[in-house]
Amino acid sequence: MKIKCPKCKKDAELAMDYSVVKCGSCDFDMSYGEYVKFVAHNEPKYSDILGDYTGSTEGQSSGSLDEWD
Ligand SMILES: [Zn+2]
Repeated sequence: MKIKCPKCKKDAELAMDYSVVKCGSCDFDMSYGEYVKFVAHNEPKYSDILGDYTGSTEGQSSGSLDEWD
């Protein structure tokens, strides 16, 4: 599926199995886990992506991580 490249802000491709993120417009190429960390670090508003990725095994999956600060 298409997601936003955190490097050049164009369309990057996320593999269907969430294994890798690749951008055709620049040389961005990371595993999805690395991508999530990269994006969460650079753009805090994207932390909900991190919540979706790690929250499935936890009871609190509402995604509003801001409440915990
Ligand atoms: Zn890119």
